[in-house]
Amino acid sequence: MRIVLLGPPGAGKGTQSKILSARLGVPQIVIGDILKAQVSRGTPLGVAAKPYLDDGKLVPDPVIIETIHERLEDPDTDKGFVLDGFPRTVPQAIALDTTLADAGTPLDVVIELVVGRDDVVRRLSGRRVCSNCGHIWHVEFDPPTVDGICDVCGHDLIQRSDDNPETIIRRLGEYAEKTVPLTDFYAAQGKLVRIDAAGTPEAVTAATIAAAEPY
Ligand code: AMP
Repeated sequence: MRIVLLGPPGAGKGTQSKILSARLGVPQIVIGDILKAQVSRGTPLGVAAKPYLDDGKLVPDPVIIETIHERLEDPDTDKGFVLDGFPRTVPQAIALDTTLADAGTPLDVVIELVVGRDDVVRRLSGRRVCSNCGHIWHVEFDPPTVDGICDVCGHDLIQRSDDNPETIIRRLGEYAEKTVPLTDFYAAQGKLVRIDAAGTPEAVTAATIAAAEPY
């Protein structure tokens, strides 16, 4: 079971890919998290990627493609994966297709979470992340009991540095310019399933599972 989740920042890819990965028993591969971990460890990849993450720009394709190839060589991906945040450009998608074709294990389905720009801006600007356990809260839609404190583990909530209005606008610009063309790319392969992601997380989960289940 090899799935790609597409959608703008704030569409809920993280939430849905986590649920799908647990349900299907395959790893959830979140490229943004891999990059952020490298940045905080100060590795050469992290140092190269940091200015792009800070600016809300996409990291250059060759760097990302090499990173994901290394991850896909890990044996836990033998039974499949849910990819969250990769590919984000047509060259990345072509590189992924080539690698998977060489291995005789093509993608099964690409699920696009569709949500409007205003919703995305509201979701991202109110998003708060637990600094300890990573649980995601929202100041308006899913607030913790005590402002700024995680209900799950009691640690402080933080706002992602790229969830500020200026960087959000740049990330959405990158999405429109470089990632939206991927929908045509996968539709032409007959692999694209579009899901309305404006509803409740539960409704989106039901639709996402229904899209993945036939495979
Ligand atoms: P995310 O957590 O998915 O919103 O990703 C955070 C940041 O990581 C993005 O704004 C980009 O700077 C970088 N990034 C994540 N995935 C990719 C990708 N597939 N290609 C290039 N840059 C990426």
